[in-house]
Amino acid sequence: MKREKGLLIVLSGPSGVGKGTVCGALRQHDTHIQYSVSATTRNPREGEVDGVNYFFKSKEEFKRMIEENELLEWAQYVDNYYGTPRKYVEETLASGKDVILEIEVQGALQVKKTFPEGVFIFLMPPSLKELRSRIEGRGTETKDLIDSRMTIAKEEIDLMDKYDYVVENDEVELAVERIKSIVTAENCKKERLIHIYKELVEE
Ligand code: 5GP
Repeated sequence: MKREKGLLIVLSGPSGVGKGTVCGALRQHDTHIQYSVSATTRNPREGEVDGVNYFFKSKEEFKRMIEENELLEWAQYVDNYYGTPRKYVEETLASGKDVILEIEVQGALQVKKTFPEGVFIFLMPPSLKELRSRIEGRGTETKDLIDSRMTIAKEEIDLMDKYDYVVENDEVELAVERIKSIVTAENCKKERLIHIYKELVEE
């Protein structure tokens, strides 16, 4: 299919909704979509690998990245900083590949300012009760941190209106199919293609 630039896909949704699992499954289905690895100041969870799940940074290193304009967006979440390295995203899009960012809402809103042509997808849990039990099931957070994540989750859901699509993560495979359909449809949007085809006619 003809394309000049890749599509920027932003996937947000409350902590624990399963963004990571859905992204992982999506990448297995569709190797064309590239995953942007974020930088964070939080400590690695068991099994997380530097450079694969996140680039784990000290607060000083993260501050330097902000000052040197290396981040496309960044946000404070609970007690840590999270941000998207700019270079990877810009170079991958320029090479014609689609990129997915898995980020929280404040960061997504910043990206919307610089990339209004991006596709903004909000991943919803079937219920808040289910969300809490998914975070508890992960077993990586204390009760206080779970409470903070649940408070933020409600604030994030309030901002759903800023997104283009809402996908319920009732079952991972179903959520992946919905996202794949969105990406396919978005890549066929006339606004993204019309000038390419017009040039063909003019040639
Ligand atoms: P976690 O600590 O559970 O890995 O991530 C906490 C929250 O930060 C999640 O909602 C996750 O999507 C978000 N997050 C991860 N990377 C980034 C990033 O680069 N930028 C922003 N703004 N949020 C991120």
